[in-house]
Amino acid sequence: MILRKILMSSNICGNTKQLLPIMCNFVRYKSSEVEKSQRTSYAKQQTTIFDKIIAKEIPSDIIYEDDKCLAFNDVNPQAPVHFLVIPKRRIPMLDDISDNDRDILGELIIRAQQLAKERLPNGYRLVINNGKQGCQSVYHLHIHILGGRQLTWPPG
Ligand code: 5GP
Repeated sequence: MILRKILMSSNICGNTKQLLPIMCNFVRYKSSEVEKSQRTSYAKQQTTIFDKIIAKEIPSDIIYEDDKCLAFNDVNPQAPVHFLVIPKRRIPMLDDISDNDRDILGELIIRAQQLAKERLPNGYRLVINNGKQGCQSVYHLHIHILGGRQLTWPPG
């Protein structure tokens, strides 16, 4: 709202004004993702939306599945290609990983790499958000794979 007021009252060209709704939506999206991660209580989340996706109780755009892991397109993509690779066994977050999880972590990374190489020959990024300040909103460990445009650094 504030951004809209500032831009509308400033002396900006027509093209920029046309971009205004897009910019406002972007700012709204960014803050809503952060807000979501701030609201999410780790202890409260016994199961997550990803359990429902694994159980096929809700629809998702699945791109790979085996007995250990699942990959599906993100419902709110942040790049032309944005998918998630998750373990079927629920591990809430990276902080919960121990030496016993070496195998599944290896599986997830190798699967992410194989799917990414097929889809993103010019490069890609793997991201794991961990905890509130890491902007994690779903407490079922997942790797984001993003690409299909020039990514920038540092991330927000
Ligand atoms: P996090 O912020 O926890 O690292 O990422 C969670 C991701 O899961 C977000 O990018 C969000 O868009 C995605 N997501 C949340 N709910 C769903 C859903 O129901 N379906 C799909 N495909 N992705 C989801």
